[in-house]
Amino acid sequence: MATIHPLRMSQLYAPTLKEDPVDAEIASHRLLVRAAMIRKVASGVYSFLPLGFKSLQKLEQIVREEMEAIGSQELRMSIIQPAELWHESGRWSDYGPELFRLNDRHEHAFALAPTHEELITFLIRNELRSYRELPKSLFHITNKYRDEIRPRFGLLRGREFVMKDAYSFHATKESLQETYDEMAAAYGRICERLGLNYYPVEADSGQIGGKVTCEFMALADAGEAEIAHCTCGYAANTEVAEAHIRPLSHEAHEGAALSKIHTPIEGTIAALAAFLGIPEEATVKALSVKDPEGTMSVLFIPGDHELAEVKTNRAIPGFEFLTDDEMLKAGLVKGFMGPVGLPKGVRVVADISLKDTRRWVVGANEKDHHYVGAAQGSDFTVDVWADLALAQAGDCCSVCDEPLSFARGIEVGQVFQLGTKYSESMAAYFMDEDGFEKPFLMGCYGWGVTRSLAAVVEQHNDEGGIVWPMSIAPAEVAVLPLVMGDDAVEPTALTIAEELCALGIEVVIDDRFERAGVKFNDADLIGWPYQVIVGKRGLEAGAVEFKDRQSGEKQQLALDEAVVLIAAAVKDVRARYL
Ligand code: ATP
Ligand code: MG
Repeated sequence: MATIHPLRMSQLYAPTLKEDPVDAEIASHRLLVRAAMIRKVASGVYSFLPLGFKSLQKLEQIVREEMEAIGSQELRMSIIQPAELWHESGRWSDYGPELFRLNDRHEHAFALAPTHEELITFLIRNELRSYRELPKSLFHITNKYRDEIRPRFGLLRGREFVMKDAYSFHATKESLQETYDEMAAAYGRICERLGLNYYPVEADSGQIGGKVTCEFMALADAGEAEIAHCTCGYAANTEVAEAHIRPLSHEAHEGAALSKIHTPIEGTIAALAAFLGIPEEATVKALSVKDPEGTMSVLFIPGDHELAEVKTNRAIPGFEFLTDDEMLKAGLVKGFMGPVGLPKGVRVVADISLKDTRRWVVGANEKDHHYVGAAQGSDFTVDVWADLALAQAGDCCSVCDEPLSFARGIEVGQVFQLGTKYSESMAAYFMDEDGFEKPFLMGCYGWGVTRSLAAVVEQHNDEGGIVWPMSIAPAEVAVLPLVMGDDAVEPTALTIAEELCALGIEVVIDDRFERAGVKFNDADLIGWPYQVIVGKRGLEAGAVEFKDRQSGEKQQLALDEAVVLIAAAVKDVRARYL
């Protein structure tokens, strides 16, 4: 085995920055750039510098190990993919403008892979043939390309990013479920090895189809997702979270019969509630939509809630909001819609939480007018009850009825049971036990490699910079000789660094002719888990300083014991991430 030497800062290409990049809104973006881990190339496109690349490779290796531990095999599929495959699955059109498309010199169309369901299905069809060869699980770690409408937050939402994607093929549902559960468990272990504080949450299967799915959310205020969770263990993306919204017992709901009130206000719930002197939750909010066939519906939700578009899409697949023009044509009065006296053919679709609210305060389908006391059953009927409202603070868990808590999260991974969506559309069949051809049952499992790297930094930083967990730090220990050229400091520091290396520790030595302050700042900014500070005065007393980046604690170690103690400390922390 080649001898391993310490990394030398004097040789390293690691141009750290004092200033924050102007476009950085969040800690991970700011710090990954300042600590010389990444550099922007274009919007949502980044290069990795040597230090960032070391962390990225370590992260990839953790993901790889966890995939291999559950019997998934690594391969490497191409990124450039013929359009024909995307036509077969129907996603050439479904994927929309997020798909990067290009033509070759013969005008043949290609896509840059945003994900690899098409290619893997193409790869195995006609070659994976018999139930006897199943299940199979394959993965790769490659760049993905998505022309995101809003690339932002550095590595969190890029247009070029690294994903680990695994795909599994099965003869039976039970087999698919088994692999899916193993993948979910592996994702939990990856989170733990990365030191991520996370939640597995119920989620929408979106673009990709399929019914059973779970997202892995790293908790962070910078996260774009919101999670509803409960002490009973229930956790879901708020896009799909079910909640018990308390039916409100307000006098407006029990009061007298239907009466029309002149409400000359801006058509907002806040204005209506203020005008009537009732809380917003005592009102009912209306939104108008159409389905792909053109059937119109007015949706009703509690006045203080927002519409959950993902849930609405389950109730009315492919729905779109009506434009002002369409509303006008349909005879719908914006800001004043209600279930009493809607134009013919417009359906009343209401959130399930309104079922127990007998009398509604709601629009009167007439400008500047609302109804109070509109009674379900007598004044109007609801055509469809559906779960439409976005869960929010104050709502209760649908499982145990305790109040839900809310947190923001970064989606670092997602596991799906795809079923036969791709095997059917792309004609990928196997022979079952009875000699019948059947489409494969498939699972797919995506992990955001570059995104999870940023998520780690998002959770592990302080005012000094990044605080890497040992598992993916670019090196484990930094040795800082405070005075280069000094005939005690420099050789002692070098010896410590070499000896630590010999004990299998990953070491960097800051052998630059820089002031101590510069070395301290860079070491904190880059975020080496441990620092060994070798100074003149310390050496005179026969000691070096050992600093734990995370706690900031410093201890003096006797020179003759330092290497052994430091190596033991590193190995101890390392073991916690295995
Ligand atoms: P999002 O909802 O955040 O756009 P997605 O659900 O479209 O993500 P998937 O198709 O499930 O993403 O991809 C698998 C994983 O790839 C995600 O869990 C995420 O970690 C990562 N990922 C997806 N899009 C990006 C992106 N634009 N930049 C970086 N990582 C991404
Ligand atoms: Mg996803």
